[in-house]
Amino acid sequence: MIVVEDLHRHFGGFRAVDGASLTIKTGSITGLIGPNGAGKTTLFNVIAGRLPPTSGRVLMDGQDITGLPPHVLFHKGLLRTFQIAHEFGSMTVRENLMMVPPNQAGETIWNSWFARGRVARQEAEIRKKADEVLEFLTIGHLADQKASMISGGQKKLLELGRTMMVDAKIVFLDEVGAGVNRTLLNTIGDAIVRLNKERGYTFCVIEHDMDFIGRLCDPVIVMAEGHVLAEGTVEQVKSDERVIEAYLGT
Ligand code: ADP
Repeated sequence: MIVVEDLHRHFGGFRAVDGASLTIKTGSITGLIGPNGAGKTTLFNVIAGRLPPTSGRVLMDGQDITGLPPHVLFHKGLLRTFQIAHEFGSMTVRENLMMVPPNQAGETIWNSWFARGRVARQEAEIRKKADEVLEFLTIGHLADQKASMISGGQKKLLELGRTMMVDAKIVFLDEVGAGVNRTLLNTIGDAIVRLNKERGYTFCVIEHDMDFIGRLCDPVIVMAEGHVLAEGTVEQVKSDERVIEAYLGT
């Protein structure tokens, strides 16, 4: 689904991404691991249109998407969630989901502006969809809570929920487990697996928790010093000497 070809992103003289080439296969949950400073987040930012690359290409389903802005990628079904969740704290959890703009073909903001009779019906449909998403994620009971009041892990689930309000094809998850307790991490893991199996989502996941990676991801891609060092199952990369050395060297 995604092919990254010889990607570079330099900051001044510093090569944060330095010739990274990788493939994310349709239907996979691909893990992206590597020591701190390996260039994982920068790579995500370039793929997701938040940073232009210095050189190299990103293809989605064979189409060149290099440097396209996030809103264009969003309409193609490429979404990225953040290490720090970006919720609207003063709104309820349900309202946060209802804020997500639709990305289906033909459903533009103008449709809803000019077809005023349809607005109420659309709002009811969006509300129903939001409630279905919350049930799917097992946080239906939080629908009317202010988003600022829910836990860090629940915010991560809300971020996943946002991707379900639209027709996502591939979702990039940045450190979904950071600061999340084990029980919620399992809930997040289950949601990712179900989205993958039942809704056909492809995922690329940056994560430090190797248990989480091991349970979810195949393949696992290891980055170090801006490029890909190894790829394989979690067991394969864990016993790869180059990988061990890269982790020990930091
Ligand atoms: P990772 O996600 O693997 O920890 P990052 O992509 O966050 O790695 O960072 C890779 C390297 O690039 C780090 O050394 C970081 O300090 C550097 N870097 C990231 N963003 C910038 C920036 N905007 N300006 C300068 N250096 C940056």
